[in-house]
Amino acid sequence: MRNLRATVSTPAFAASSSPTYQPYTLRDLGRIPQLARLPRHVRREIEIVAQVLPFRANNFVVEELIDWRHAPDDPYFRLVFPVREMLRPEHFARMAGVMERGQKEDITAVAQAIRAELNPHPAGQMDRNVPVLDGQSLSGMQHKYPETVLFFPTQGQTCHAYCSFCFRWAQFVGNTDLRFAGRETTLLVEYLQTHPEVTDLLITGGDPLVMKTRTLASYIDAVLQADLPHLTSIRIGTKALTFWPHRFLTDPDADDLLRLFERVNQAGKHLAIMAHFNHYRALAHPQIQEAISRIRNTGAEIRTQSPLLAHINDSPEIWAEMWREQVKAGCIPYYMFLARDTGAQHYFGVPLARAWEIFQAAYQQVSGLARTVRGPSMSTTPGKVQVMGVNEIDGEPVFTLQFLQARNPDWVLRPFFARYDPTALWLDDLQPAQNEERFFFDQP
Ligand SMILES: *Cc1c(COP(=O)(O)O)cnc(C)c1O
Ligand code: SF4
Repeated sequence: MRNLRATVSTPAFAASSSPTYQPYTLRDLGRIPQLARLPRHVRREIEIVAQVLPFRANNFVVEELIDWRHAPDDPYFRLVFPVREMLRPEHFARMAGVMERGQKEDITAVAQAIRAELNPHPAGQMDRNVPVLDGQSLSGMQHKYPETVLFFPTQGQTCHAYCSFCFRWAQFVGNTDLRFAGRETTLLVEYLQTHPEVTDLLITGGDPLVMKTRTLASYIDAVLQADLPHLTSIRIGTKALTFWPHRFLTDPDADDLLRLFERVNQAGKHLAIMAHFNHYRALAHPQIQEAISRIRNTGAEIRTQSPLLAHINDSPEIWAEMWREQVKAGCIPYYMFLARDTGAQHYFGVPLARAWEIFQAAYQQVSGLARTVRGPSMSTTPGKVQVMGVNEIDGEPVFTLQFLQARNPDWVLRPFFARYDPTALWLDDLQPAQNEERFFFDQP
């Protein structure tokens, strides 16, 4: 056994930089002085859009991440603060109108009606992937691809801040039927025991690292104690490295969290922190660097993923720089996703054709150590579909695509073709090439 105390190092900066987490919700906009310096309409528009899409920021995001000299165009401003264009003009006008008349119930009703038009549950998340144990639906879990089970611990269903593009946005807006959540550690362990095909447990949310270490440990320790030889990896999906690096540095239970990571490692399991970075700028922040290094000292790996987002990171230079900085910090680039068909996709979405160009131009600029990244990939109902490029078949321009993950494992890595369409944003916008009636995976 290694000496835990010796391996969990003391953060290198002064104690004065150990702030307490201070959330900002819609009610707190008046307490953000930087916001008061922007034109008045910016704040008004935030108030209107945030009736529909969830808003939450915190002191680290406001004071350290956002470059207020460039707000509202700054990528970290747009990532967290809604802007007018994130609602379609008719939705924005409807909400602005009802807010002027001012009845609270009317505002809520309009907000719910607009949300219902924004495809709150993409890719059949609510109904198609919920596993069953002894006839009981396990609503806090999803099991879509044989080797990986997703677990959504109840207390981890919020985040340190909310991303304006988030595809899980529906679960943050207070309508509890839209949440999946499960407290049941026992059910999780039993499910894993009866499914020897599962090698990976992915703990996700929201952000499971909003939970106290004690709570997270109650799940993870139970899984370790169950001693499941087929379970080789535990992944934790989190944005805490960007939104609240103090979670790994100076929060009262930060050291306990790192000791939990070490326990996973010592139990012979691979621990992967699936970190969400949207822009290289976060990687330059000294506290984020320090947090990365403390995590890596526990034996955990950090793999990184992000969607490609118009107005935030839609250029090859941003991605190439982000992957280079990640590799330099010892992180492993993993996925470039496409913005899902939900919420503000009309604002953030990048057409598939352009996404592939950005991916290719970025990939060309980085060494093999960064080429572990895969993409651009869409998480659709049949599976994760990668855009491999644009080709021509018998004079017809086509997209070449393949599944990286599929509901039916036999579909994986079988190239297929769709009619080229420069405006298509998602698999549903595509038609099979060569006048085929349907895609091979859509056969009745
Ligand atoms: C992406 C995803 C996974 C994990 O896929 P990997 O390619 O192994 O990272 C598992 N389940 C669901 C539902 C997913 O969308
Ligand atoms: S941290 Fe993740 S789950 Fe939370 S709002 Fe952002 S993208 Fe969504």
